[in-house]
Amino acid sequence: MTIPFLDLKAATAELRPELDAAHARVADSGWFLLGRELEAFESDYAASVGAAHCIGVANGLEALQLVLIARGIGAGDEVIVPSNGYIATWLAVTHVGATPIPCEPDPRTYNLDPARLAALVTPRTKAILPIHLYGQCADMTAINTFAAQHGLFVLEDAAQAHGGRCHGRASGALGHAAGISFYPTKNLGALADAGAITTSDGVLAARLRSLRNYGSRERYHHDEPGLNSRLDEFSAAFLAVKLRHLDAWNARRRTLAARYLTQLAGVGDLVLPFVPEWAEPVWHLFVVRTAHRTALREHLTAHGIATQIHYPIPPHRSGAYRNLGYTAADFPIAARLAEEVLSLPISPHHTAEQIDSVATAVRSFFGQR
Ligand SMILES: *Cc1c(COP(=O)(O)O)cnc(C)c1O
Repeated sequence: MTIPFLDLKAATAELRPELDAAHARVADSGWFLLGRELEAFESDYAASVGAAHCIGVANGLEALQLVLIARGIGAGDEVIVPSNGYIATWLAVTHVGATPIPCEPDPRTYNLDPARLAALVTPRTKAILPIHLYGQCADMTAINTFAAQHGLFVLEDAAQAHGGRCHGRASGALGHAAGISFYPTKNLGALADAGAITTSDGVLAARLRSLRNYGSRERYHHDEPGLNSRLDEFSAAFLAVKLRHLDAWNARRRTLAARYLTQLAGVGDLVLPFVPEWAEPVWHLFVVRTAHRTALREHLTAHGIATQIHYPIPPHRSGAYRNLGYTAADFPIAARLAEEVLSLPISPHHTAEQIDSVATAVRSFFGQR
C-alpha cells in the first residue's frame, strides 16, 4: 500500500530518544510492577483528564470489567450499551454475568441516542455504558441527566477518545468512571496491551486498586477475590512520554480531518462525520458512509490506499452473542451502519499530501475531480 492505514513505526521513531531513555530507566531500576513509573503516569493522566484518580490496569476490557465488579454489578443486572461499536464494551458486561441492553445510536453521530434510554430502563437497570465512538464524545449531558433521574451509574468507554471533549470537559471525567484502553493503535497507545480507569470517587478508586492486584491492599492479605490486571512499569513509562505529545498529535489529526471535510463535502452519496457544536472530537478514526462501500473500498485499494471497516458486524450479531438470538431487524440503525461505514486513513503521521491523495481518489470514484 502506498498510503497505509496507520504507521506505528513512524510514531515510535518520532519519540525514539525519549522512549529509549524511559526503557533504560525501568530496566536499570529492577522494579517492574506497581512502582514509581505507574504512580507518575497515573497522576499525569488523571490531571490531563481532570479526574481525581487514575488506576492503571492491564487493558481496556478489564478496565471496564473491573469498574462493574467494583460496583457490584452482576447476574440479574442490566447495563445499557450501544447496539453498534466494538465488542469489548459488551464483553465487559457479560463477563461479570450482567445482561447488555442494546441502545440504538443517533444516526448522525453514531453515538448512543439518549432519547431512546427511557424505553430501555427496567427495575434491573444498574448502569449506562456509552462509547465515545471514533474519538467523538457521546452526548454526556443528556446521558448524565437521564442517569441522575433514574439513579443509574454512568461508565464511559473512553478507549477511542483520549483528549476528546464534551462542552469543554475531557472524556474520562464525564461520568462516574471511565474505562480507557492504551492498545497500540489508540490515540494514546502503549507498546503493548495497557489500560486505565479514571474516576473522581475516592472509595471506588481504592476498591479498584485492590481489585486489580488480587484483591489485596496489604501484601498477602486478600480481602476479596480480585484479578491480576496491572499496568507494567515499562508501559507506564512509555505512556508518560507519549502523553506529553498527545495534544500536539491530536491537533495534527484535527488538521487532517478538516482537510477531508473540505475536500469531500458534497461528493456522491458520501456521508461525512457530523460534529455537534459542543463536541471536540480527536479523530481516532475518520469514518464515512456510502451505499457503495464495497466498490469504493476496491477503488481505493487499487489506488494503493488502505482502508478499514469499524465495524463490519455489530456485537449482537457476532458469534459470541448468537445465544441472545438477535436478528439484523432488531437494531436497524446498527445494521445499516455496519454495511455502510468505511474508515479512511488518518493519524498524526499522515501528511497533508497523503490526505489530499485519498480525497482525490474518493472523488474520482464518484466521477468528480
Ligand atoms: C480498544 C477498545 C476497547 C478495548 O481495549 P483493549 O485494551 O483492547 O482491551 C474497548 N472499547 C472500545 C470502544 C475500544 O475501541
